[in-house]
Amino acid sequence: MSALVVEGVTGRAGTDQPVVVIGAGPAGLAAAEHLLDAGAQVVVVDGAPEVGGLSRSIELWGHRFDLGPHSFRSDAHPESVTRWLDLAGAVGGVERTRARRSAVWRGRVVGFPPRPGQVLRTVGAGATARAAGARLAATLNRREPRTPVDAYQALVASHGRAVVEELLAPYTRKYLGAHPRDLSPAFADELQGTRRAGERPVELLTPSEGTGAVWDELARRLRARGARILLGTTVTGLSATDGRVTAVRVRDTSAEFSIAARAVVSSVPAPVLVRWLPGTTAPSGPSLRSRDTYLVHLLLDGDVGQDSHHVTACDESLRVGRLSNTRVWRPAAFRDEPRTVLCAEFWSSGDDDLSARTDHELAQLAIAELPAFGVDRGVRVLDHDVLRLPRSVPVPTRGAEAARAQLDVQLDAFSNLARVGRHGRHDGIGPEDALLAGRSISAHVLTTV
Ligand SMILES: Cc1cc2nc3c(=O)[nH]c(=O)nc-3n(C[C@H](O)[C@H](O)[C@H](O)COP(=O)(O)OP(=O)(O)OC[C@H]3O[C@@H](n4cnc5c(N)ncnc54)[C@H](O)[C@@H]3O)c2cc1C
Repeated sequence: MSALVVEGVTGRAGTDQPVVVIGAGPAGLAAAEHLLDAGAQVVVVDGAPEVGGLSRSIELWGHRFDLGPHSFRSDAHPESVTRWLDLAGAVGGVERTRARRSAVWRGRVVGFPPRPGQVLRTVGAGATARAAGARLAATLNRREPRTPVDAYQALVASHGRAVVEELLAPYTRKYLGAHPRDLSPAFADELQGTRRAGERPVELLTPSEGTGAVWDELARRLRARGARILLGTTVTGLSATDGRVTAVRVRDTSAEFSIAARAVVSSVPAPVLVRWLPGTTAPSGPSLRSRDTYLVHLLLDGDVGQDSHHVTACDESLRVGRLSNTRVWRPAAFRDEPRTVLCAEFWSSGDDDLSARTDHELAQLAIAELPAFGVDRGVRVLDHDVLRLPRSVPVPTRGAEAARAQLDVQLDAFSNLARVGRHGRHDGIGPEDALLAGRSISAHVLTTV
C-alpha cells in the first residue's frame, strides 16, 4: 500500500493533521460539525457514493423517498428540533403531520400500542380484565422490581401481560428475532415512544424533499466551512501505536492510501472497529447482532385510503412487518399525485427464508398481504422496487450492554478515538439524536483538536 496523503488535508505529523470521521451518515456529519466548531480540520470518509447513510433518500417514480419513511418527532430535544427545521428549511421545509401508528392484531387495525377500548374489542372482557389486573398488580406489588430488568417487565407494567404476549412479543420476534424477555428495558421506551402520557400530541416533521435532503444540506455547509468529504472511499483498517490511532487506511476506486489522523471519530459498528485495531478482541457470542431490512416500494393506482404513518403487523402469520403510506407522511407533496406509494418492510436474520427469496418473490408476498393492512383488494399495482439493507437494525439484547461494556474498555484505551451513532454505539438512535451526536465525542478526543 502506498503511503499517500490526501492533498490539502494532511501535513506534518502533529497539529495540522485532520480529525478523520468514519461514516457520512447523520452521526458522522453531526460529529464533523461539532469538530469544526471546536476548530479542527476535518476529513469525513464514506464508502457510499452519497452522504446520509441509512437516512439517505432515493428517487423513485418522480419522488424522493426515505429508506422506509423516517420520523423526526416534534418532542425531540428542542435544540435538535431547531437545527432540523433550519436544515430542512433550506431545502423545501417540512410537512407537519400528527403522529399516528397502528397495528394489525387478530385481523383488526388498532392503535399501537392499543388503547384499552381496542383491547376490549379485540380480546374480549376476560382478557382485558386480566390485563388491567396485571397492570394494577405491577403498580402495587412491591415484590415486582421497581427497575425493570428487561423489556418484558417494562412493557407488562404499562400494558398488562395479555397485550405483551399477544401483540408486542410477536412484534419483537418479527422485528428483532427476540422475545421482550431477551431485550433491554430501554427498548420498551423506544417502542412506546408515540404515546407518552400527559404530553402534547407529537407531530412528525418530515422534510418535503426527503430526509436525505437534510443530510445533503448539512454536508454542503460542512464543505463550505472547509471539511473534506471523501465519498466512495472505504476504510479498511487503522494504524495505531502507543494507545493512539495514527492513520486511517482507505481504498477508493483507483488506489489504497493512508490518511494521517490526529484523532478518529467512528460511526461504523464497534465490532468492526475492534477488528481494525491491534491488541483488541471482539466480544464472543451473538450479543451485538443486527438484522436486515428489506424494503418493498409499491406503486399503486389511486389513493388506497389509510391514515396511519405506520401499520405494524403483529400477527406472525403475516410476513410484512410494517406498511407505510407516503401520502400520510407528505400529504402536500402527494396532493396532486394520482398514484400512491406504499412501503412494506420485512425484517430478516439474513439467513432465513425471506433472505432466500428473489426481489420478485418479496414483492409478490407484500402484494398478497396488502388486504390484511386494509388496502383495497382491487387495487392495481403498477410497479415495484426492492432494496435490501443488510445489518441495518441493531438488536438491543440484554447481553448487548455487557458486550458493549467489554468493547468500551478496549476502545476507550485509545486516547484519540471516539465512537458515535447507531452502529458506533450499537443502539437505536435516529436522526433526532444524531444531530446531537457530536456532543458524545469524548472530552479526551476533543482536547487533541
Ligand atoms: C428502514 C429504516 C427506517 C428507519 N426509520 C427511522 C425513523 O423513522 N426514525 C429514526 O429516527 N430513525 C430511523 N431509522 C434509523 C436511522 O436511519 C439511523 O438511526 C441513522 O441513519 C443512523 O445514523 P448513523 O450515522 O449512526 O449510521 P448510518 O446512517 O448507518 O451511517 C453509517 C455510515 O458509515 C458508512 N460506513 C460503514 N462502514 C464504512 C467503512 N468501512 N468505510 C467507510 N464508510 C463506512 C456507511 O456507508 C454509512 O454511510 C431507520 C432505519 C431504517 C433502516
